[in-house]
Amino acid sequence: MSMSVKDRLATNKTKLSKKPHITVETDICDTTCTHKCTTRVCPAKCFEIVNDKMAFQYEDCIECGTCLHACDQGAVSWKFPESGHGITFRLG
Ligand code: SF4
Ligand code: SF4
Repeated sequence: MSMSVKDRLATNKTKLSKKPHITVETDICDTTCTHKCTTRVCPAKCFEIVNDKMAFQYEDCIECGTCLHACDQGAVSWKFPESGHGITFRLG
């Protein structure tokens, strides 16, 4: 039986670090970015516009790296989580 992407993502486990592995300069999102593409390409919906402002949260991140490549405004800084933290994929 096949599982939906949403159900597959729900099987993953994350050990959160207090230090975010992704930081977003939301001032850039709010002022100069016209396309807001990361709100559409992030599979975990970590980028959302709330009250006309970028609201980024790293807690549901699956470390795919898409936002780093998608953002053409230099707003995203990405590094691997510190050792022992981050996501563990259950179904590959
Ligand atoms: S593409 Fe970059 S600058 Fe634009 S909303 Fe996404 S993170 Fe912000
Ligand atoms: S690394 Fe992937 S899942 Fe994490 S915030 Fe960026 S696009 Fe979303």
